[in-house]
Amino acid sequence: GQDQAGIVIAGAGHAGGSVVAFLRQYGWKGRITLVGEEPLLPYQRPPLSKAWLKREATADNLALRPARFYEQQRIETRLGTRVTAIDRAAREVHLADGGTLPYDRLVLATGASPRRLGLPGAEMSGVLALRSAADADALAAVLEPGRRLAIIGGGYIGLEVAASARALGAEAVVIEREARVLARVAGTDLSAMIEARHRAEGVEVLLDAAVEGIEGEAGAAQAVRLRDGRRIACDAVLVGIGAMPNEALAVECGLEAGGGITVDLAARTSDPLIYAIGDCTRRPLPLYGREARLESVPNAIEQAKQAAADICGRPPPVPEVPWFWSDQYDLRLQIAGLAFDPAEAVLRGSPEDGSFAVFHLAADHRVLAVEAVNAPADFMAGRILVAKARQVAPGLLHDSAVPLKELAI
Ligand code: FAD
Repeated sequence: GQDQAGIVIAGAGHAGGSVVAFLRQYGWKGRITLVGEEPLLPYQRPPLSKAWLKREATADNLALRPARFYEQQRIETRLGTRVTAIDRAAREVHLADGGTLPYDRLVLATGASPRRLGLPGAEMSGVLALRSAADADALAAVLEPGRRLAIIGGGYIGLEVAASARALGAEAVVIEREARVLARVAGTDLSAMIEARHRAEGVEVLLDAAVEGIEGEAGAAQAVRLRDGRRIACDAVLVGIGAMPNEALAVECGLEAGGGITVDLAARTSDPLIYAIGDCTRRPLPLYGREARLESVPNAIEQAKQAAADICGRPPPVPEVPWFWSDQYDLRLQIAGLAFDPAEAVLRGSPEDGSFAVFHLAADHRVLAVEAVNAPADFMAGRILVAKARQVAPGLLHDSAVPLKELAI
């Protein structure tokens, strides 16, 4: 039924901005209200650590869709205000500006928030995080030639910012607790190659480095103190140590959650009238027989499709292979699949030439994941091999003379 209260979306980010478009595309004629805490219409976050930070993109480039889209599609927007509570019995949400909105269906698309550094000095000025456009503006202001940025965390965001800092002529030092960069999200070959490239670009990379706290004068950060006593002098600190799902709204109204709001493959929560999509969810991964939280644009879009399809009475879309990309210097990383319990890693191509792929195989040679660097064809073929759960002899994957396209048919 296209009832009067319509659909309310809490969170106007990549997932929220996508679901409103799919709802109209799939034929929802009723009311749609998009509530967003930030003052902006939905925008893309990936450029915030890349093109936008390097001042190579405009606000229009960031926007998911032009402002007229929302008018033409009759999507009501309530920006600069947050949903503070969900009343499931009354089927309404409460807003920070004092209003309430009734709903027939509610979509939670609240994203994730940067994990905080719970250490002395973490609240000083000059200690930054990167999630929003406002965060990116604050970071851009300190990335000037000759200034030195200390980056805590050698994950994707930290490394992308390091590359952007170098492009802007700033100094960057990456401080990583683990023995390698990208330790949680990439295999050892990729980590080694990325680390070498950052060093070659003049980034200082400190591994096995535990941070004790931030030091400074008059409340402004001036150095990162390591547990082994080293003092890393800097002009600002970027904390890039992961993100936590924004699931408090769901938890407080009794929805199943924990490490992300629990959803099924139609993006339904434990309340049939409430959906959840994007970084705030913990979702099934049918290819791997387990659940996980995925923090990526492709996942936000896939789950937006799932929710819109279910609301419009369509069958759920075929599950996609999780994938992700990252740009650092002239390197385009593309990763498909997830390397849970890998038994073997097979290299194809040559890291020295800057173009290669690493295939992660299970013990039975099933392709679990591919990590490609400047190798888009290997990425695309690998994605199909993962989708088809294809078993491939390591020798064939390694041999650049064997066309992968044919293995993927
Ligand atoms: P978000 O885009 O974070 O949107 C959530 C929105 O909800 C936010 O605007 C938030 O303010 C709002 N909100 C929260 N609570 C409430 C509330 N109670 N009421 C109202 N509004 C609320 N992914 C890739 O695939 N490739 C990349 O290269 C890549 N690079 C990235 C670089 C950076 C710097 C960052 C931060 C992320 C990057 N990502 C990348 C991840 C990608 O941006 C996210 O996975 C994606 O934005 C998730 O969309 P989302 O809608 O779930 O969350």
